[in-house]
Amino acid sequence: MTLSTLSTASDKLYEGVIGLEVHAELMTASKMFCACPVVDSTAAEPNTAVCPVCLGLPGALPVLNRRAVEFGLRVGLALNCTIPAFNQFARKSYFYPDLPKGYQISQYAYPLASNGWLEIDLPGGATRRVGIRRAHLEEDTGKLTHVDDHSLVDLNRAGVPLLEIVTEADLRTAEEAEAYARKLRAILQYLGVNSGDMSKGVLRIEPNISVRPAGSSELRTRTEVKNLNSIRSLARATAYEIERQIAVYEAGGEVQQATLGWDEARQVTVVQRVKESADDYRYFPEPDLPVVEIDAAWVERERAALPELPDAKRERFMRDLGLSRYDAALLVADRAVADYYEAALSAGGDPKQVANYLTGDVFRQMNLEGRERDDIGAIKLAPQALAGLVRLVQDGVIHHGGAKKLLVTLYEQGGDPAALVEAQGLAQVRDEDMLGATVDQVLAENPAEVERYLAGEEKLIRFLMGAAMRALRGQGDPAAIQRLLAERLAGRQDES
Ligand code: ADP
Ligand code: MG
Ligand code: ZN
Repeated sequence: MTLSTLSTASDKLYEGVIGLEVHAELMTASKMFCACPVVDSTAAEPNTAVCPVCLGLPGALPVLNRRAVEFGLRVGLALNCTIPAFNQFARKSYFYPDLPKGYQISQYAYPLASNGWLEIDLPGGATRRVGIRRAHLEEDTGKLTHVDDHSLVDLNRAGVPLLEIVTEADLRTAEEAEAYARKLRAILQYLGVNSGDMSKGVLRIEPNISVRPAGSSELRTRTEVKNLNSIRSLARATAYEIERQIAVYEAGGEVQQATLGWDEARQVTVVQRVKESADDYRYFPEPDLPVVEIDAAWVERERAALPELPDAKRERFMRDLGLSRYDAALLVADRAVADYYEAALSAGGDPKQVANYLTGDVFRQMNLEGRERDDIGAIKLAPQALAGLVRLVQDGVIHHGGAKKLLVTLYEQGGDPAALVEAQGLAQVRDEDMLGATVDQVLAENPAEVERYLAGEEKLIRFLMGAAMRALRGQGDPAAIQRLLAERLAGRQDES
C-alpha cells in the first residue's frame, strides 16, 4: 500500500471509525513516585536509574511527584478538558516481567482530566473537533529486550510518569488520525512536557480501528495497532487496516477483535494477540497514595502558565505578520520550527521574506537531507543568518538568485551571510560603468536583434536583457540593467 491509496475507504460504501490512545512520557526531572531521574532509556546504561520504589521491592512506598500532576493538568487544559476536583490513583493488576510490583499505578474511575476536544485541520482549510474522552496519569513500565531464548529487563523506564490521552471514536480516515497526531504532538512540544520523539518510544500512538457502512452509527468490532514509530507509520497502518477490514466484510467474513502490530518492512498489520475475553485488571483504589484534590485556584494557576499554543500562534502570525493561513500553519506545526522562525524575526528578518525562504528553500534542503522538521534546531544555517540573508536581498546587495545559492552554502557550512557574499563574490553588480559596458557589449554582439527591436519587435528587449544577465553570471542588478538597456536603445531610436 502506498500513500496515494490512503483515502480509498472513501469508495463511500464503508467508513472508518478510529479512536486514538496516546501514551506520552512526561519530561519531569524525576520519576512519578520516587526520586530516580528520568533518563533517556535508549541511551542510558540499563538499570542505573532505579531504587526500591520503582523496583517494586516489598515495603517501599510511593510518593507522588507534584510536577507530573502539573504537567498532566496543563495538557488537560490545552485539550479543553474538565479538571475534576477529586483525583485518585488505582492499581491495575497484571503480571508481566516489565512490571516488578505485579500491578501498575494508574487512574481509573477518577482521571485527571475528561471531556475535552482538540481541533484538527483538514485539507482545504476545514477544521473538525475531536472529542477527548479522558487523560489520566500512570507509571510507565520497564523495557524488555528479547535475545534468543531469553529476555532482558531494563527498569530505568519503570515509574516514569506517563499521561494516557484517549479520544472518542471521532476520526474517520487515516488523514484525520494523522492530523490529530500532529496537532497533539505539537501541543505536547509547545507545553514542554514531551519531546514528541516516537522513534524513542517517549510518545506512543495507538489507533483503535473499525469500519462500518458509511453513514451508519453502529460501532463494530475493532482492532488496535501497536508498534508505530512515526506519525507516517500511524497513517499508513490506519489506512491499511481500514482497507483490510473492508475486504474482510466484502468477503462475507467477520473482523476479529485483536491487538495487531505494524510490520514496517512489509507495510502490513500482523496479529499479535487475539482477544477472547475482556482483560480483568481488578482495578481498586491505590491504598499507598492519598487522594489528590485539585481546587479551582490550582487549575487557574496552571491555565495562566500555559504558553501560546499552535492555533493561537497561527492566528497571530496571520493577523500581525500578514502571513497566509497555509504558511502560518506550516510554521506553527512544529514547535522547533516556530521557535526558529521567531528567532529569525527577533534578529530583524522581514516576516514574509523569512517565511518564504524558510518554508521554501530551507525545508527543501532539510528534505534533501532526510531531516525531520522538528530537528531544525540542529541545522548549520542559524536563524540569525537567515535574517541576515533576507536583509542582504532587501538592501539590494544580492538578488534572489544569489540568495538561493548563498542559502545552500549557509545550510551546508554555516557562517555569516555578509562575509560569505564577500568571499564568494555573490554581491550584485551595481557598478554603473561595469553594467553599462556589459550592455554596450551585448548590443554590439547582437546587431540583428537590435535591428528588429528598433523596427518595432519590442519583445526582443527580453532577449537582450537575458544576454546581459548571462554575461554578468546572474549577478547584475536586474533593475539597473533594464534601465540602462532602455536608455541605450532609446538613444539609438533617436539616432535612426
Ligand atoms: P479499552 O478499555 O479497551 O482501552 P476504550 O473503551 O478505552 O477501550 O477505548 C479505547 C479507544 O478505542 C478509544 O479511543 C475509543 O474511542 C476507541 N474505540 C472504542 N470502540 C471503538 C470502535 N468500535 N471502533 C473504533 N474505535 C473504537
Ligand atoms: Mg485503554
Ligand atoms: Zn526509583
